[in-house]
Amino acid sequence: MNSFSNRITNLFGIQYPIIQAGMIWASGWRLASAVSNAGGLGLLGAGSMYPDVLIDHIRKCRSATSKPFGVNVPLLYPDLDKLMQIIVDEGVKIVFTSAGNPKTWTGMFKEKGITVVHVVSSSRFALKAEEAGCDAVVAEGFEAGGHNGREETTTMVLIPAVAEAVKIPVIAAGGIGTGRQMLAAMVLGAEAVQVGTRFVACEEASSHPNFKQALIHTNEGDTQLSMKKLVPVRLLKNKFFKEVWEAEQRGASEAELKLILGRARAKKGMFEGDLEEGELEIGQVSSLIKDILPAEKIVRNLWEEFQSAIETPFL
Ligand code: NDP
Repeated sequence: MNSFSNRITNLFGIQYPIIQAGMIWASGWRLASAVSNAGGLGLLGAGSMYPDVLIDHIRKCRSATSKPFGVNVPLLYPDLDKLMQIIVDEGVKIVFTSAGNPKTWTGMFKEKGITVVHVVSSSRFALKAEEAGCDAVVAEGFEAGGHNGREETTTMVLIPAVAEAVKIPVIAAGGIGTGRQMLAAMVLGAEAVQVGTRFVACEEASSHPNFKQALIHTNEGDTQLSMKKLVPVRLLKNKFFKEVWEAEQRGASEAELKLILGRARAKKGMFEGDLEEGELEIGQVSSLIKDILPAEKIVRNLWEEFQSAIETPFL
């Protein structure tokens, strides 16, 4: 069935309600354009891109697809003003903001006719995003990889709560990597899903091959939320994670944790493939992922499994 349409597919002008999460060191122009070409929405993960790198990726993405794509900007980014200006100057039409206050940038983007979506981990922040004028929210639960909420609300609880709280459409994220999970999220009140980890184990993802291999060999319980004293992130358990965990167990201060983290740990792990010393941000759903596939196949599998799950007789 190719004629699916709801508020999210209409908002972005896409075929399927499937959005590829903007992920640092994984989602450059190759991944984003491949997902968009497959009928989903591809996002460039600007968090790990210097301003000139982002310009390059936007231009390459545009020449690789005629379909809509967007940019994800974590609001913790150091050169935020520069990135936002680039997004406007390069004519990007869709922006997903995360990890910050949606009020700061949404108004400016809306004035320029840009669609804005903000990532939240609670109903309270979903309401703030709606008040700020966002067109939709991504409600991201505890299962998600990378940056995460402090309150540990699971996707199963968060989605119905956010769908009840706001009138704008809700995109479910956190723990979604299969069509059956996608259907579950839609039953809970979401109108689309945002999928991260499944798209890290993807041929077009820029993540290091070592990281992709580690991802497809994880088991249940191999990831854990870490570094709540700094910015909470879900990590794959490795040597670096263990060091942080031991420090946290003995009550290490914020300053001590910062020292252990150092600089560019995420790049070392996810982009350079150092599986021991690097920071490996990945979601719980990794334990269900067993293969590295092209983006087009991932989108097709999600959609076909979603369709066949709808037809499953439950009673
Ligand atoms: P660090 O401070 O440890 O290191 C900065 C890293 O970002 C370096 O690897 C650097 O590359 C790269 N970088 C890209 N653009 C810039 C810039 N303008 N100024 C400085 N460094 C830049 O940060 P992290 O690696 O922990 O996080 C990097 C970014 O990713 C942050 O903006 C953070 O908010 C975001 N992030 C987003 C996540 C998400 O889920 N979307 C998850 C985790 C982080 P180089 O080594 O080549 O100098």
